[in-house]
Amino acid sequence: MNSEQIKNSLNISPAIRVGVLGFGGLGQAAAKVVAGKQEMILVAAADQKGYVYATEGLNTEKSIATYQSQGSVGYLEPIGTLTNQSIQDLIEIAEVDGYFLALPNLPNDFIPTVAKEFIKSGWRGVLVDAIKRTTAVEQLLAMKEELQAAGITYMTGCGATPGLLTAAAALAAQSYAEIHQVEITFGVGIANWEAYRATVREDIGHMPGYTVETARAMTDAQVEALLDKTNGVLTLTNMEHADDVMLEVAGIVGRDRVTVGGVVDTRNPKKPLSTNVKVTGRTFEGKISTHTFTLGDETSMAANVCGPAFGYLKAGRQLHQRGIYGIFTAAEIMPQFVR
Ligand code: NAD
Repeated sequence: MNSEQIKNSLNISPAIRVGVLGFGGLGQAAAKVVAGKQEMILVAAADQKGYVYATEGLNTEKSIATYQSQGSVGYLEPIGTLTNQSIQDLIEIAEVDGYFLALPNLPNDFIPTVAKEFIKSGWRGVLVDAIKRTTAVEQLLAMKEELQAAGITYMTGCGATPGLLTAAAALAAQSYAEIHQVEITFGVGIANWEAYRATVREDIGHMPGYTVETARAMTDAQVEALLDKTNGVLTLTNMEHADDVMLEVAGIVGRDRVTVGGVVDTRNPKKPLSTNVKVTGRTFEGKISTHTFTLGDETSMAANVCGPAFGYLKAGRQLHQRGIYGIFTAAEIMPQFVR
């Protein structure tokens, strides 16, 4: 008996079958997070050149080792498949309850395009992203009715920021009668930028003089040359981050009152500053105050993105099972802890 059959025979609800699309820095971390869970089983993973699928669950270590040594999980014998349309292929053949989209959002409409593929295919289930830009989330929010009609429960902006910190702001807002300011400041430390190429490119796209398109077009050598000039550190202010539209749509605060900035050190896993969100408002008694929620410095970007992503996948699954489809943001729904 495999683990799924054992759970069924014990009359325990079967584990949620999850897939990870994109197997770079976050996708691999996501696989490791799921490996420690009883309530979820990773059955599918895809990258740009291939995919792996196994109903009894993937071997996380072998999948990661294959990706790192050969550049694609598609090389994993005997279950890997090499293809340049891995997402479409998986949609067709795999039985998956929910996918985490750990994909680069380059260009800025890439993830919305993937969502359209899911809608077109007739697939039903839960999709979760950790997308960052306001304009990208707006494109997805505009697809609400199509997602509803397709029987898809889409959870957007469910990483760290947007995600964990936006949800914390939504919770902190409850003390106030009026919210004046939400200020998110993040510190990220990674040992080398190659482990998170898309994240670093997308961050460069926020720097003065750069756009998503110019950052996308940069070669690895150009990224390295830029990082050499800044000693590996990217300082970002007034970013176009979807925390603003998510808090606005949730009816908490206008987007002009939300700011996001941070410092990314691409040469040192130690965080350059403590990630935090400050929520300032006025209580019903007329007192002005600020709540601050600070993440522990030992928690990595990967922990703070992948944990919430699966927490929202579990929440999305519960909505889906109740017939609730469409699109929800991290500011509207409480993530469910995955055991
Ligand atoms: P990465 O560059 O390390 O990996 C990207 C992966 O996607 C690779 O495996 C690549 O092969 C795969 N891929 C690319 N095109 C594909 C395609 N067409 N089909 C299938 N797979 C494809 O990326 P990363 O640094 O792990 O970042 C992933 C995403 O997570 C980025 O969009 C980033 O902005 C987002 N992110 C969000 C937060 C947050 O807090 N919300 C934080 C960090 C990163």
